[in-house]
Amino acid sequence: MKLVVQKFGGTSVATEEGRKRVLTIINEATKKYDNIIVVVSAMGRYGAPYATDTLLGLIDHKTDTLEPAEIDLLLSTGEIITSVVISYELKKMGIKSMALSGSKAGIVTNNEHTKADVMHIEKSYIDGLLKNNIIPVIAGFQGRTIEYDVTTLGRGGSDTSAALLGEAFNAEAIEIYTDVDGIMTADPKICGEAITIDAVSYQEVFQMADSGAKVIHKGAVEVARRANIPLIIKNTFSDHAGTAITGYSKFEKKNTIKDKIITSIAHQLDRIQFSVTGEIDVDAFFAALAANDVSIDIINIFPNYRVFTTDSNREIEAIKVMDSFNASYNLIRNCAKVTVVGERMTGVPGVMAKIIHSLKSEDVEILQTADSLATIACLIHDKDLIKAIKALHKTFEMV
Ligand code: ADP
Ligand code: MG
Repeated sequence: MKLVVQKFGGTSVATEEGRKRVLTIINEATKKYDNIIVVVSAMGRYGAPYATDTLLGLIDHKTDTLEPAEIDLLLSTGEIITSVVISYELKKMGIKSMALSGSKAGIVTNNEHTKADVMHIEKSYIDGLLKNNIIPVIAGFQGRTIEYDVTTLGRGGSDTSAALLGEAFNAEAIEIYTDVDGIMTADPKICGEAITIDAVSYQEVFQMADSGAKVIHKGAVEVARRANIPLIIKNTFSDHAGTAITGYSKFEKKNTIKDKIITSIAHQLDRIQFSVTGEIDVDAFFAALAANDVSIDIINIFPNYRVFTTDSNREIEAIKVMDSFNASYNLIRNCAKVTVVGERMTGVPGVMAKIIHSLKSEDVEILQTADSLATIACLIHDKDLIKAIKALHKTFEMV
């Protein structure tokens, strides 16, 4: 049995034109595959009536007026609406389908509302549909607890729903349809020169996603990698072949940009940098940050000096921790993190020197850096983001 999972993102299902393309793509897949599982996101972005952020805007979700389970119930409706609309259109075309909430689809999670982890997938209901050649059109981004409370999986969660279903049903491929031709050398919204990459490894895309590239959720990449199922990123609105994300090694030929040291440049906005001075109990201090859900990044620790960054929306919590330790600190708001990603940079000398030279020649101040085997990240002022990405894109000859 050949099975494919096809996931359609928010912009793909936002307009009638997009939904027509979606139906054509599903219809084409019926000719190639024995079974199809469709996963859909909520329609559109903030402002569109059923978009997740619009729904969130109906309530003040930062207060504790509502129970987390109630917030998730609200958030889950956007995807449910899409699933019913797509199923309706498929049926009208004579294609057998069934709209399903994540709960009905058997996606069972823990009870960490708004950021739940999927524990397992109860396959029997979907199996029944597939046996009868009925396409399940599943609301992404959601599941249920064992007590049947609706949960959501956090930002980009529909990608993860698709990957987990692909794993559970042993898909030949997990196709993620979006509004760009595939994984590109940088976010095309920031860098007009960015080009689409034909083939790239799970590892590199994981690094990109982890460094802020929101084209695919890192959780989905991780699941596809562990299941060894190709993850294909495609454009709903074009016939471009897209990007194949697979487990090829950097020494194989499949990589069409194999002579490039840097595969892509990712970025993350809304970063804030803290520098903490004086004598504090570092151990207890970092534990307190974690306990207050302040996730930190680009961390440097010196005897009397520590620097780290966090998301701007954790500023208040981070400051609370500083105050509780009577720590002296400086903060720099409105930062952005730019990360160059490339498995082939390992062991190649001079990559950092090139980055520094490239940014310096554009008068971009580097506030902090961090590196790992396949990444080098620089924290900069967000006003410099576009010119920094463009400069790096040029320096590393990414086109
Ligand atoms: P969807 O609603 O389909 O899930 P997303 O907005 O989550 O779409 O992801 C697609 C967007 O990701 C693109 O429109 C693009 O602006 C952004 N993006 C960021 N980095 C990259 C990259 N390296 N390659 C392609 N797209 C990227
Ligand atoms: Mg997305």
